Amino acid sequence: MGLLDGKVALITGASRGIGKAIALQYAAEGADIAFTDLVVNADTVAAIEALGHRVKAYVSDASSFDAAHAVVEQILADFGRIDILVNNAGITRDTLMLRMTEQQWDDVLNINLKSAFNFTHAVTPVMARQRGGSIINLSSVVGEAGNAGQCNYSASKAGLIGLAKSIAKEMGPRGIRANCIAPGFILSDMTAAMPEEVRAAWIKTIPLRRGGTVEEVAKVALFLASDLASYVSGQVINVCGGMAC
Ligand code: NDP
Repeated sequence: MGLLDGKVALITGASRGIGKAIALQYAAEGADIAFTDLVVNADTVAAIEALGHRVKAYVSDASSFDAAHAVVEQILADFGRIDILVNNAGITRDTLMLRMTEQQWDDVLNINLKSAFNFTHAVTPVMARQRGGSIINLSSVVGEAGNAGQCNYSASKAGLIGLAKSIAKEMGPRGIRANCIAPGFILSDMTAAMPEEVRAAWIKTIPLRRGGTVEEVAKVALFLASDLASYVSGQVINVCGGMAC
């Protein structure tokens, strides 16, 4: 018996990184997986398939309202239901406010925050009809605390918290839970792109003195998706090695 037996999970941006780890964790616990990305990674599909559950990947830009609605329609046609939505797709375009271009602001807000609106908007009627569902937004500790050089990213991640808390209040009566995970410094392609001295400086601020793994984030995403969290809604769970306590 898996924690997610019989459930269908939709994860955005899951070809690699945290999204991929969540897809693998969910499939290992019995869920069928639909995931989106700009480019589908065949190895990710094969790794999920190897766990013995249905998986289908969809090429889709999460920042497009129309594309998000079209892909949710297709997933419903393919899988028949959606029980879990993980708004994971995200990017950084870090720079100081004095240097930030409008394009850098718009790209980050559209891909990190508007994408979550797009998918939540498309999926909540489905979950409401099913009388239940779990929505998980990948926020960040900088969405709570802010960060120099990441005004756009921090604002998008703070927005994801407001979105999840509001959906928890609005859709709770229909049995839909909505929560955020706020990772700290997680070892993925996103953080690998940082200069070594920046990575080292971050790690010094972490009480556990290491970056987290994508699997450690996925375990919290499993908890929030499952009935173990049946009375948990409107919350932000930090996964940060004690950095933000
Ligand atoms: P990665 O950069 O490793 O992966 C991000 C994924 O999102 C990629 O698969 C990427 O696709 C996909 N993506 C980007 N743009 C779009 C789009 N427009 N439509 C669909 N998919 C898209 O990041 P992580 O795995 O590290 O991060 C996952 C989430 O967790 C993000 O929201 C991030 O902000 C958040 N987070 C990460 C932290 C960390 O330390 N790593 C800390 C706090 C939060 P492609 O491969 O095509 O580029």
